[in-house]
Amino acid sequence: MLSNLKPQAPDKILMLMEEFRADTRQGKVDLGVGVYKDPQGVTPVMRAVKAAEQRIWEAQTTKAYTGLAGTPEYRNAMARMVLKDVPADRLASVATVGGTGAIRQALELARMANPDLTVHVSDPTWPNHLSIMKFMGLPFVQYRYFDNDTRGVDFDGMKADIAKATKGDIVLLHGCCHNPTGANLTTDQWREVIAMLEKSGAVPLIDLAYQGFGDGLDADAEATRLVAASLPEVLIAASCSKNFGIYRERTGILMTLAENTGARDMAQGSMTFLNRQTYSFPPDHGARIVSTILDDDALRADWQSELEDVRNTMLGLRDQLASELRDLSGSDRFDFVARHRGMFSRLGATPEQVQKVKDDSAIYMVGDSRLNIAGLNRDSVPVLARAIIDAGI
Ligand code: PMP
Repeated sequence: MLSNLKPQAPDKILMLMEEFRADTRQGKVDLGVGVYKDPQGVTPVMRAVKAAEQRIWEAQTTKAYTGLAGTPEYRNAMARMVLKDVPADRLASVATVGGTGAIRQALELARMANPDLTVHVSDPTWPNHLSIMKFMGLPFVQYRYFDNDTRGVDFDGMKADIAKATKGDIVLLHGCCHNPTGANLTTDQWREVIAMLEKSGAVPLIDLAYQGFGDGLDADAEATRLVAASLPEVLIAASCSKNFGIYRERTGILMTLAENTGARDMAQGSMTFLNRQTYSFPPDHGARIVSTILDDDALRADWQSELEDVRNTMLGLRDQLASELRDLSGSDRFDFVARHRGMFSRLGATPEQVQKVKDDSAIYMVGDSRLNIAGLNRDSVPVLARAIIDAGI
């Protein structure tokens, strides 16, 4: 039976990591995989996470199961962090296995509610969105998103495409820090998208994986909050991997907002059921770290200040890279690097140019010219800028 299995396409980013590891050149730079790295190239455990783990270790007297939906502490703390004003009469939530688990459960839930749905997703998007939907056999179409000339959002194209979404379809939107492009909607553009969804009855699924990595913890949730306050039905898949730096703890949450308490209860029951069918109880350790931090004023303040340092480090690198490129190119055509937000920017280069940067300078970007800003430091920025110009990007 097992010999009937077919080989799976390897993950391109993980293949790039392998290639990087095998490269023996001095000063090689990895801008591939999406984890935050400090200027020394380390993905640190945040101070508040260490402190919370110590408290948990000291206080915890049992490892018995929690609840199928996760703990109320975690779900309440996350609802406050993401939504601020929590509409309890509309909100259902379940802890999930990372943000990926939240997206998977969101799509399963949507299909349970509407077996005929189509998912509308940005072109480009995080590749796992597409591969999950393909695996599930869920019909999807991609809406235009990235303008390769301006390296900003092709908003007219996006609007023309999401206008095709009909009642009961899902429109998947990145809440902030779009992956892989770094290009994001303005608040006014979000308002226009909301008005379109209101008219069509298509339901937004917001993927919020980088809250705190763009313009700040509240600013990055602004669009999600606006959507939540404006539309009758909203699905939100949030990840704690990046903003708490707890990637391997697999900590995420699916939140849904329903029209009324009856629909909320139905959603809660179905989401809990989905957890039960998939993995029973969601992991607790990461979730407990998060609620311990968010529920304690001192830990929360320390975490927020470290998160601000992370964010500002990335913004500083963006400014430095844009300024080096301005000097070298004698133009402002690379200023988009400073305007993009989050961990990634898409340069809009060809695969050949990406290859040349790798061959000539040992700088590894993803083939679609996505670079992880956090993989840079003050010393490698000028090297990258030179390589970009030399590759004719
Ligand atoms: N959504 C996006 C856009 C992402 O980039 C990621 C992580 N790479 C996730 C969701 C999922 O994050 P995780 O499952 O690691 O929490």
